[in-house]
Amino acid sequence: MSEKVQIPQHNHCRTCGKAFIGTERYCSDECASKNKGEINKKKKELYVLFGVLMVIMIIAIVAGMVI
Ligand SMILES: [Zn+2]
Repeated sequence: MSEKVQIPQHNHCRTCGKAFIGTERYCSDECASKNKGEINKKKKELYVLFGVLMVIMIIAIVAGMVI
């Protein structure tokens, strides 16, 4: 009989990379909220970038009208 070592179903935390047993994406609520905060930060950065681009476009259009 061949013996098989059963590896329990485990995941790696998306924030700290720690292995844990379960089907969640994060090892703890702390890591989950930490990751969410980082995603929100990146979203905000994207909005700021988009806003700056819009302002530049508006300035370019207004400058084109004036000149
Ligand atoms: Zn974690």
